[in-house]
Amino acid sequence: MPAGPGKKQCDKCKEFVGVRTKECQCGFKFPVGAAKAASKKSQSPKGETPVESVVSVVKLLQEHKDKIGDSSVADWLATYDLSPESLAAITSMKQLKEFQEMLVVKKTIEDVGVNVATQIQKALK
Ligand SMILES: [Zn+2]
Repeated sequence: MPAGPGKKQCDKCKEFVGVRTKECQCGFKFPVGAAKAASKKSQSPKGETPVESVVSVVKLLQEHKDKIGDSSVADWLATYDLSPESLAAITSMKQLKEFQEMLVVKKTIEDVGVNVATQIQKALK
């Protein structure tokens, strides 16, 4: 069978089947989602950090400079327990605000990656 639009080739028997075919007649199972994930990855390669995110991290690291001290970004984040259990144990508005703040901090840092944040931290020193 020739290749054509809407066809994909079986890895095992090299037969062309419809793109939506999940399992070939030879028994080969097409990986579901793998191709999608791969193409998504190639669209935004790692290392291409959005500038806005980097700016946010720089701001944030400067704001929290005193709290971070000589710790690495990863160590600093690890000192905060942001689990739902920890949230349940909060008794004051002050603690709640700090918890909320740290959630944002953690998310912002994780968006650019802890490694990138650590590099930014070193550059700020
Ligand atoms: Zn096959």
